[in-house]
Amino acid sequence: MPIYEYVCQQCDHRFDRLWPTAAAAEGQQLVCPGCEGTDTRRAVSQVTVLGALGGLTPQEQSAAGAESARRQSFTPKEEIQTLQANKQKKREQGR
Ligand SMILES: [Zn+2]
Repeated sequence: MPIYEYVCQQCDHRFDRLWPTAAAAEGQQLVCPGCEGTDTRRAVSQVTVLGALGGLTPQEQSAAGAESARRQSFTPKEEIQTLQANKQKKREQGR
């Protein structure tokens, strides 16, 4: 499972996300956890693939799987929609 590092173009915040497959990460636009901006880019040079190290014990693999499940509970598309809805509300309140 690949972990990709992302960099926010607005505040330079770096964060990473674990994906079930490399293909799942394609075309995904993530929300920056720092400034909630959507102008994030994948830092391609920082790819790590779990299991590629070859020495993971079953316990470690289990821990990695739990971490993966935890991260996947955040759906990027839903995050973006929620944030956009919140921004829309703020705009409406500002008028
Ligand atoms: Zn940011």
